[in-house]
Amino acid sequence: MNAPLPMLDLSAGLAQHRLEIERAMARVIATGAFIQGPDVAAFEAEMASYLGVSHCVALHSGTDALVLGLRALGVGPGDEVIVPAFSFCATAEAVSVVGATPVFVDIDPRTFNLDPAGVEARLSRHTRALLPVHLFGQGAAMDTLLELSARHGLCVLEDAAQALGGSYGPRRLGSLGHAAALSFFPSKNLGAFGDGGMLATNQPEVAELCRELREHGRKSGAPGRGREHERIGCNSRLDTLQAAVLRVKLPWLEGAVAARRTAAARYDGLLSGLPGATLPWRDPRSLHSFHQYTLRLPADRRDHVQARLLAQGIQTRVYYATPLHRLPAYGGGRSGPGLAQAEAASRSVLSLPLWPEIPASAQARVADALRQALA
Ligand SMILES: *Cc1c(COP(=O)(O)O)cnc(C)c1O
Repeated sequence: MNAPLPMLDLSAGLAQHRLEIERAMARVIATGAFIQGPDVAAFEAEMASYLGVSHCVALHSGTDALVLGLRALGVGPGDEVIVPAFSFCATAEAVSVVGATPVFVDIDPRTFNLDPAGVEARLSRHTRALLPVHLFGQGAAMDTLLELSARHGLCVLEDAAQALGGSYGPRRLGSLGHAAALSFFPSKNLGAFGDGGMLATNQPEVAELCRELREHGRKSGAPGRGREHERIGCNSRLDTLQAAVLRVKLPWLEGAVAARRTAAARYDGLLSGLPGATLPWRDPRSLHSFHQYTLRLPADRRDHVQARLLAQGIQTRVYYATPLHRLPAYGGGRSGPGLAQAEAASRSVLSLPLWPEIPASAQARVADALRQALA
């Protein structure tokens, strides 16, 4: 009854591919091509084909993909970037790391994503880019945001770290903006055996710049003369071993995300009509990847409900307890102007255990515990 039920169990998915992954890793070890081996270029090509973009650049992490993506799009000191006030800290951190200033905008309470209605009021002559996040795996309002960016001459970098496997209209999340940042952190929809990330873009010059930046600013191409360090970059390569692991897992991504959607629909059924709980809203324009299944609960009961579930061994998570503008790094306790929805979300959200192979019985147990805790 009180057996621990984790947020996420990677072992079931791993068991299905273990032999194939071990074989791929053994192949890399045998060749010794640990840095920029052939699996990296092959994985980049396979991801570009999956997303339907012309260029993918494999990087060390999703955070690096945001940082190098901003740099490759020409964002730097003195620039402002529009960021939703409710996201993982890396979204805003990347803007600060390139020397620009994140300008926080409120979210749509139904999707938890950047509210286009709030963007226009925060534009200034310093605004260079929009950085929408497809939070929990649901697409931000890209049609409105792309129209707005075109009208004001801004770049759009998608934070698609949680969105792989989702789509918006006919296109995959991560293929809609001028560039997109993906993450292969182990818990993400396509997870490596460590850190990993990628920049996806249809713009050859953005991809080329990103390739240079990931290798100390060196011009890409054949080794030897002419490969000078053109600019200050960094070391942000994806390990060949990670690329080999991800290549094995990529063909299974569609199935894994479909299984996430099935599990989410099962939660919907189990929890429908639960007093006090607001279930995830589905934006009809977006196919949700369900990186997280996130409920809203009454703000004054959320922590109590979470503690009650934990007492029964059920792990849940609050993503995110502090909106970005209230993080100590961004001024601490100060409330931002017009960020009420981000603040309300941080007090009311609760993400439930979810992974592709989660047993229906585990979901029923979560639902029962929620019913009791909210009764
Ligand atoms: C995970 C995540 C990142 C950062 O990705 P890493 O690979 O962990 O660096 C950025 N933004 C969001 C929304 C994320 O969930």
